[in-house]
Amino acid sequence: MNGVEDQNLFNIAHQQFLRAVPFTDEPQGWRGIAEWLFEPDRVIKVTFPIVMDDGYVHVFRGYRVVHSTLRGPAKGGIRFHPSVGEDEIKALAVWMSWKCALVEIPFGGAKGGVRCDPPRLSEGERSRITRRYIAALGDDIGPHTDIPAPDLYTDEQTMAWVYDTYSMMHPGENNLPVVTGKPLNLGGTPGRTEATAQGAVYVTEHLLEMGAVPGVESLRGATVAIQGFGKVGRNAARMFEKAGAAVVAVSDSQGGIHDPDGLEVARVEEQKDSSGSVAGLAAAKQLAPGQVLEVPCDILVPAALENQITAENVARVDTRLVLETANGPTTPAADVALAERGIEVVPDILANAGGVVVSYFEWVQNLENQQWEEREILDRLRTKMQRATEHVVATRARLREGLSDYQQQWRRLQPQAAEVGPPDLRTSAHVVAMSRCRRAGHLRGIWP
Ligand code: NAD
Repeated sequence: MNGVEDQNLFNIAHQQFLRAVPFTDEPQGWRGIAEWLFEPDRVIKVTFPIVMDDGYVHVFRGYRVVHSTLRGPAKGGIRFHPSVGEDEIKALAVWMSWKCALVEIPFGGAKGGVRCDPPRLSEGERSRITRRYIAALGDDIGPHTDIPAPDLYTDEQTMAWVYDTYSMMHPGENNLPVVTGKPLNLGGTPGRTEATAQGAVYVTEHLLEMGAVPGVESLRGATVAIQGFGKVGRNAARMFEKAGAAVVAVSDSQGGIHDPDGLEVARVEEQKDSSGSVAGLAAAKQLAPGQVLEVPCDILVPAALENQITAENVARVDTRLVLETANGPTTPAADVALAERGIEVVPDILANAGGVVVSYFEWVQNLENQQWEEREILDRLRTKMQRATEHVVATRARLREGLSDYQQQWRRLQPQAAEVGPPDLRTSAHVVAMSRCRRAGHLRGIWP
C-alpha cells in the first residue's frame, strides 16, 4: 500500500461520508440530498492585522465554517495552528455535525481557526489575535446561531477573551452562551476541561464490557500509548492510570517517552510543566514524536493532530484498539489496513464527542442561569457516551447481517461503483449520524 495518499481532510471526510451512503435507508433518495447534507452551509474567511510585540504588523488569516444547522445552532471549536486552512476547517465542521447527531445533542456542526504558530506567540499576541478574529466574525457567531469552543492550542483563557470581545459588542445581554469551555469563574461548567478525555474513557470502558475488543476485558492491566499531551492527552493519561491501566508511552510535539512497565503520570506531568515537554524524563526510553504510534500496546490514543496513522506507518502500529480522541488521525487507507488486521478503531466522531456533550451542558446552564454539580454532569455524560457506543455497535451488527442485501441494492443503483465491504465502527457511526441529519432535513422540508 505505497504511493501518495490524499491527505486533504475535506476529501477524507467526503470519502467517509460516501462509504456510509450505501448503508442508509433508501440510498437512491440520497442523490442531491447527499450533496446538500455534505457541503458546508457557509464558509467565512477573514484577514486581519495584528501589532506584534516587536512593533511590526503581521497579517493573519482566520476561518469559520458552518457545516449544518439542520438539527440546531452550529457548534464547534476554534483552533490556532500553522496548518489551518479552508479544507481542514470544512472537514472539522462536517465531523462536528455528525458528532452532535451521534450523541443526540441539538446542535449542527461548525469549526473555526486562525493560521498561526501559538508556541511562538506571547500571551498578549494570542489575546489580540483572538479578539480581532472574533470582532471580524461579528454577528456570524452568536448564542443561538454558532457557538465556538476550545480546540488545538486554544484553552479556557482564549474562550474568556472570546466571551469578553463578543460581550463588548453586545452590551446588556446574557452573552455567556456565545462560547463554551470558559473558565469556571466565568460561566464555565465543572467537568468541561476533562470532558473529551472522560468521554473517551467512558466509551472505551463500555466497549470492553461489551466484549468488543478480543483480548482486552477491562482497563485494569491494559497498556496504553498516547500521542499528544495537551488538554485531551494529558487528562486521558491521568484517567487511564486511575482506572488501573499502564500508560506505557506518551509524546508531544517535541518528542516522546516509553517505559513498557508503565510511566508514572504525575512524574510525566512534572517533566512537562518544568521543561515544556514530556521528552527528557529520566529513566524512560526517548522516542521521536511519531514513534509513539508504533509502541506495542493494547490501546493507542492519537490525541494530537490529523493524518497520523497513514498508509506509510500503519503496518508498524502494534495495538488492539485505536481510540481517536484527535480529529481525523487515521487516513482511509490506514482504516482499511487496520480492519484487515482486526484492529478496532473507535472513530473520532464517537471517541471525542464528550467535549461537545459537556459544552452543550455548559450552554444550557448559561441560558438558564444554572450551575449543575460535577457528579450530575459526569452521570449525564456517561449516559450519553454509553448510549451512543451501544447504538454504533448494534448498527454495525445489523448492517453486517444485512450485508449481501446492501451490496445487491448498491450494485443495482451504482453498477459502476466498487463493491461495498463490511462496515467498520466509523461507517456505522456515520450511518447513524447522517440518517439523523437527513431525517431532520426531511421533517423541516426545504424552504421555500
Ligand atoms: P492541545 O493544544 O491542548 O494539545 C495538543 C497536544 O498535541 C500538545 O501536547 C502538543 O504538543 C501535541 N502535538 C502537536 N503536534 C504533535 C506531533 N507532531 N506529535 C505529537 N504530539 C504533538 O489540543 P487538544 O485540545 O488536546 O486537542 C488535541 C486533539 O483533540 C485535536 O485533534 C483536537 O481537534 C481534538 N479534540 C479536542 C477537543 C477538546 O475539547 N479540546 C474535543 C474534541 C477533539
